[in-house]
Amino acid sequence: MIVLCRPDLTDAQRERLLDAVRALGVEPFVRMEGVRTVVETGASADARRSDIERLVGVERVFAGEPGAHLVTRDAHSEPTRVQVGGHAFGGPETLVIAGPCAVEGLDVLLEIARACKSAGAHLLRGGAYKPRTSPYDFRGLGREGLEHLAAARAETGMKIVTEVLDTRDVEAVERVADVLQIGSRNMHNFSLLQEVGRTRKPVLLKRGMSATIDELLTSAEYVLAGGNPDVILCERGIRTFEHTTRNTLDLTAVPLLRERTHLPIVVDPSHASGRRSLVPALARAAAAVGADGVMMEVHVRPAEARCDAKQAILPSELAAIVRDIAAIGAIVRRPPGGGETT
Ligand code: PEP
Ligand code: MN
Repeated sequence: MIVLCRPDLTDAQRERLLDAVRALGVEPFVRMEGVRTVVETGASADARRSDIERLVGVERVFAGEPGAHLVTRDAHSEPTRVQVGGHAFGGPETLVIAGPCAVEGLDVLLEIARACKSAGAHLLRGGAYKPRTSPYDFRGLGREGLEHLAAARAETGMKIVTEVLDTRDVEAVERVADVLQIGSRNMHNFSLLQEVGRTRKPVLLKRGMSATIDELLTSAEYVLAGGNPDVILCERGIRTFEHTTRNTLDLTAVPLLRERTHLPIVVDPSHASGRRSLVPALARAAAAVGADGVMMEVHVRPAEARCDAKQAILPSELAAIVRDIAAIGAIVRRPPGGGETT
């Protein structure tokens, strides 16, 4: 059984609660501390479930094994809306996140941000901290990159999605980011997940390149159990035997996740395919399977991009995709029953 304590529990209340659980003949094992304490008790405690539920400081009790609970539709049947500025992931709009792979400099970021805005994108992406396969590759501008992102938001009004790679940088990235991105390579970095769980910024959690759907959901559970309810899941392609494309876009993940979780779901066709020519079709397909948003890499001069140049689309291509996604989203996201609403 899993016992979630209230986030506002003081240390003294927490000790009293643990004693009260012991007094019921149940040994509590503390599994998470931080914003919220999470306790596991073992299945033998199931008989005392209603007594435990009544204890002061208990927010919620889940029967069964450790795993994903808070992320499931059983825990929360209504779709979660993650509000970012004036836009909500999981609301009626299919949102578009666009921008460069990496923040390369202030001028070029501003050029790209303006172009993405006029193409109709809702949020600006760009990495100040870049996970790179080789240590000798361009690994981002770090703090300077964060300042450039803040400047781009100040000028365009677009909210910022940017990656945090390391627990040591969470505070600095949190100060600038409107959405904290956890990249594919960090989906299993449980200390980082716990750390962003303590923040009050929405988290865009990308699927690990070899991660199953269950693993993606249990990673999201870390963030929710840590006290942060605002998680957006992102399918970004998985590794398969097919090497013609960078990854294989698992579009099945979108309706499948929809059945399993209340969290919003976004698709990244850029990292999924690694090829500019494939991005528009995959972005449209993502909208057609019901994604709540699409994230794409865009550059004003793709050939000059310092990172992932082959997959960057032009702002003119982005504009066409934004139009198509809005049209497809309007059909796919029609509420069940589909009555006229005029
Ligand atoms: C990114 O979106 O900047 C990125 C590095 O993607 P991924 O973590 O999916 O490889
Ligand atoms: Mn990239």
